[in-house]
Amino acid sequence: MVSSGFRATLLKLGLPEDRLAVLEGKGGVVEGEFKGIRYVRFRDSAKGFRRGTVVFENGDVVLGFPHIKRIVQLEKGVKRIFKNRPFYVEEKVDGYNVRVVKVMDRVLALTRGGFICPFTTERILDFINDEFFKDYPNLVLAGEMAGPESPYIVEGPPYVKEDIEFFLFDIQEKGTGRSLPVEERLKLAEEYGIRHVETFGLYDRSKIEELHELIERLGRERREGIVMKTPDMKKIAKYVTPYANINDVRIGSHIFFDLPHGYFMGRIKRLAFYLAEKHIKGEEFDEYAKALGKALLRPFVESIHEVANGGEVEEVFTVRVKSISTAHKMVTHFERLGVKIHIEDIEDLGNGYWRITFKRVYPDATREMRELWNGRAF
Ligand code: ATP
Repeated sequence: MVSSGFRATLLKLGLPEDRLAVLEGKGGVVEGEFKGIRYVRFRDSAKGFRRGTVVFENGDVVLGFPHIKRIVQLEKGVKRIFKNRPFYVEEKVDGYNVRVVKVMDRVLALTRGGFICPFTTERILDFINDEFFKDYPNLVLAGEMAGPESPYIVEGPPYVKEDIEFFLFDIQEKGTGRSLPVEERLKLAEEYGIRHVETFGLYDRSKIEELHELIERLGRERREGIVMKTPDMKKIAKYVTPYANINDVRIGSHIFFDLPHGYFMGRIKRLAFYLAEKHIKGEEFDEYAKALGKALLRPFVESIHEVANGGEVEEVFTVRVKSISTAHKMVTHFERLGVKIHIEDIEDLGNGYWRITFKRVYPDATREMRELWNGRAF
């Protein structure tokens, strides 16, 4: 149930009373609090409020970040989506999505699901100049947090060697969720010194060959892929490199039993379409087949050995924080997500930062593997 104050706010924002009642009934809207700031987040979408939408106690609304359509056949997908229109091509940076907003004088970082992330919120002003929000309090900066020291993602892009960084890729209005045109976003990023995802320029359907070459280069450089956007941000599509598909399978197979089968199927499907579109044959085909097989099997078999030897399926990750209490808040934050993590180690980096090592155990995957290893029939 949301409190009466929020109920009034949501009704005023146009959410019909019966929709609100249904949402509440299934836990689709949830009230939360972060350091004295109260908010509701939408776990489901409802009438213009996209999933992940956050409504704050002062009435500010930050819409959920929209789904981006994926294409798996580059040439035909580009023609079908963009027709004759030109589009910007940007790097798809591999990290986690954050929406950064200023609400009641505080700069907050929201996760895709609409939580205020304690870690990202503590660190965000390391990457974004607060001047931006002084000048544009009504705008939301959407970007990817990426790097090797991330609480949500196992690996980062190859060019972030340590810690984590913010990469801007969208600027939206509070309330409407409308995106600024690409050129305006690039101008603001430059003006306020906010790091932007790399842009590869304007393309159109006549430049498919160049796009294929770009994908190959990005794959060789172990980068995730591209997002294509018309200058007005009305049409957007994403495409990932074969490298990223195989690498995701490798990362996922370590925790095979904890992921839906669709996680693997989707990546195998994308890779198959890449191989088909590029007519890859012979030795090169065999190399991809071997890489995929290894990615799927090696970490999986390693985890089975680990469990067979009495260990657990687990992941260790580190993050840098300014205050140890932020690390404790992350433990609670993960608990809310239904995930158990604990702090393994705390190291004083001596520069105002602490490096915190967390361990995440996968009890269900461990149990499943242990039982199968012990001969359970099914
Ligand atoms: P969906 O698009 O359905 O929400 P998803 O959550 O599985 O899919 P991905 O397939 O990883 O996400 O792709 C979309 C995400 O890519 C965006 O939500 C954003 O966080 C990230 N991203 C990285 N770089 C960019 C970029 N240049 N433009 C837009 N999004 C980007």
